[in-house]
Amino acid sequence: MEKPVEPAKEDCCNSGCNPCIFDIYERQLTKYKKHLESGQSVNDNILQKNGISQLKYTIFNVVKNLPACHLHNCITFKNVSEGSNKVWWKPGDHFLYKFNEDNIACTRAYTPIEAKNEQTEGDFSIIVKKYEHGLVSTHLCNLNEGDTTLWRGPYGHYEHEPNKFNRIIMIAQGTGISPFITIINKILNNEDDMTKIILFYCCKCDNSILFRDELYAYKSYWNFKYNIYLSSTSTTNFVCRYQEPINKHKLMIEYLYNLKPFVKSDQILICGAPIFNESYKTYLKSEVPDIDNIVLF
Ligand SMILES: Cc1cc2nc3c(=O)[nH]c(=O)nc-3n(C[C@H](O)[C@H](O)[C@H](O)COP(=O)(O)OP(=O)(O)OC[C@H]3O[C@@H](n4cnc5c(N)ncnc54)[C@H](O)[C@@H]3O)c2cc1C
Repeated sequence: MEKPVEPAKEDCCNSGCNPCIFDIYERQLTKYKKHLESGQSVNDNILQKNGISQLKYTIFNVVKNLPACHLHNCITFKNVSEGSNKVWWKPGDHFLYKFNEDNIACTRAYTPIEAKNEQTEGDFSIIVKKYEHGLVSTHLCNLNEGDTTLWRGPYGHYEHEPNKFNRIIMIAQGTGISPFITIINKILNNEDDMTKIILFYCCKCDNSILFRDELYAYKSYWNFKYNIYLSSTSTTNFVCRYQEPINKHKLMIEYLYNLKPFVKSDQILICGAPIFNESYKTYLKSEVPDIDNIVLF
């Protein structure tokens, strides 16, 4: 077992992640000390063969960087070194991206999704929102094919256990749909998992709906229901498909009233900007019997 390397200050994204990379380092260090004392090998889940590591950065090349819409890019990465392992992560996990340019070094979190199609041959993709003056998001959206990037992960605290909950209610805003799309996929692709999923998805406008085709296809599953809410409509010729549940207005807390009563077998997942997360959590805290059943991403 190798001694873990202490992360630098800039390796933390300062977003309050659970676990933070410093927690991971401390855990590894404890295991390493135990290993030195006992001389025995330690059963180490972290170091299982994964093409990305929680403990150090791995180089991935950009294999595709395309606009998903005017607000987002979809970027696909691949480890091109010979014999590299498959990259894996749990639904809901995130990776950390290391930015280091013009004497500025920092880290940002992004949520991996399956690299979209076979032809791309990527290890993972991310959907990046372009923030005006956003340091790392702008840099990522400007990356070219072949550029090298540094990533570490996976990190996360969410575990989906089939049939543990009767309903999983998801409330997403913008790129907050990324962790949920992987969780939805996992549940719907397991025919023994009877969990019902109810998704509320808030988007800025009709041409910024992420995973629109996937969500529409999931509609055919008996245990998946969704509604999309738009803050504005930007195209005059916007057309919904047959029974596509797109609402041309914002989501309001009152729309959650229909789900009452909330019971212990409900889990609520919320992923959006901090203000969005807090406002839904504040309301749900008073309604949900078990606060631990509300998970913020
Ligand atoms: C666990 C986790 C997973 C994430 N996954 C993704 C993902 O899959 N895709 C993605 O695009 N982003 C994701 N993010 C957000 C991402 O890490 C960055 O915060 C984001 O890309 C902005 O970084 P920046 O350097 O471009 O912006 P900065 O230079 O730090 O900020 C520029 C401007 O953007 C505003 N801003 C920055 N972040 C946000 C925000 N989250 N909400 C509202 N305004 C903001 C700031 O107020 C500022 O005005 C995730 C964050 C966390 C904690």
